[in-house]
Amino acid sequence: MTNSLLTDASRRLERAFKYVTISEDAAERLKAPKASLKVSIPVRMDDGSLRVFEGYRVHFDDTRGPTKGGIRFHPQVNLDEVQSLAFWMTFKCAALNIPFGGAKGGVTLNPKELSKAELERLSRGYIDAISNFIGPDTDIPAPDVYTNPMIMGWMMDQYSIIRQRRTPAVITGKPVALGGSLGRATATGTGAFYVLEAIMARLGASTSAKTVAIQGFGNAGSVVARQLFDAGYTIVAVSDSRGGIYTPDGLDIPSLQKFKSDTHAVKAVYCEDSVCSLVEHTVITNEELLSLDVDILIPAALENQITVANADQIQARYIFEVANGPISPDADDILEAKGVMVFPDILVNAGGVTVSYFEWVQNRSGLYWSLEDVNQRLKHQLVTATETIWQIAQKHKISARTAAYVHALASLGAAIDARGTRSDYVRTA
Ligand code: NAD
Repeated sequence: MTNSLLTDASRRLERAFKYVTISEDAAERLKAPKASLKVSIPVRMDDGSLRVFEGYRVHFDDTRGPTKGGIRFHPQVNLDEVQSLAFWMTFKCAALNIPFGGAKGGVTLNPKELSKAELERLSRGYIDAISNFIGPDTDIPAPDVYTNPMIMGWMMDQYSIIRQRRTPAVITGKPVALGGSLGRATATGTGAFYVLEAIMARLGASTSAKTVAIQGFGNAGSVVARQLFDAGYTIVAVSDSRGGIYTPDGLDIPSLQKFKSDTHAVKAVYCEDSVCSLVEHTVITNEELLSLDVDILIPAALENQITVANADQIQARYIFEVANGPISPDADDILEAKGVMVFPDILVNAGGVTVSYFEWVQNRSGLYWSLEDVNQRLKHQLVTATETIWQIAQKHKISARTAAYVHALASLGAAIDARGTRSDYVRTA
């Protein structure tokens, strides 16, 4: 029987408990999300028919601050997935020392099948349905898979209509024209690059580890691809939901990015149009991409891409998890036995939530920062967390993943114990 994603996600904690002093109460509290909301969203389609979509918003833990987490539009969205993503957000914010708890949201649909007007009605309808569950001091959404700044703009506007006041701090990842932060659109990929460079320097591998394969060429994957390309790495393969391309000489990432932005499509298309003629390449499947003989593998698409079914075939020396949860816990063990070093999602992809935090700070203060300022603060926050996690891993001789959870648990446990679990408290008024 396959475990639920949340059960799998929680298994990572069990390993970390051995290396951190945390009260039994706090450990028990972290086993279940604080609140899960399931909604239905009626949407008038362009042809006049009504379709009702299922949506979710989950708050996992809010002890360290208002909850924070993206909204995903994808056919596989379900409560278990959203709860797991909210779990990861909780530990990511704690590992990065960002004063937020963890949340996540999603709607079960294939957004590529909707027109722009239908997508706007759905996005506004979702906010109508969850408006009492979010807010700048309680829960602050952001983009995730198949959602983008345009959608965040509609959602912020809808929330502002409901509250009858302009409320930019309710959501992050907005267009810059509506109060978004400079650097937010590229933050996840840029942050992953900063983490990767810090780790490579620590490993003394900055100059030797150069070939890279990247699964997923979306917001996160395409930006980390570009950063690595500019820094002199050879990106031998990239893929999207429709498959991948491979060339041992390295892909021209700026041209691929330009092609994708020119199409203005949510979906990335590689092998039907001009991109294929840009370089000699071989078409490969996502499975083949994961098992390429490269120095660095970057899963940047969805969860559970590396499992017991294919972990044995991984040939990369280092894996940087830009996607959330791309490796199952059982696959972790296989990779560790093979000597593959894995750097975890809650550190590697934390650039997105870090600049989301900066966006929220800017919205609340009304003072906006330059791109240089944003990137400098981003780098500082991520390199500091990377160094701390590296030291914990060295001290206990544990994986970077367990070290990241140890670091996050110490901060979360202290917060829960300081506040109390509220179990003995009875509200009287
Ligand atoms: P996105 O929608 O911009 O891109 C997703 C990419 O994955 C697309 O290229 C898509 O074609 C590809 N894809 C989808 N299904 C696939 C499959 N089965 N096989 C291979 N590729 C597939 O999403 P994103 O924002 O780049 O998010 C990607 C991952 O990064 C997710 O796990 C997300 O949770 C994580 N993440 C994103 C952010 C952010 O700020 N965007 C922050 C932290 C983590």
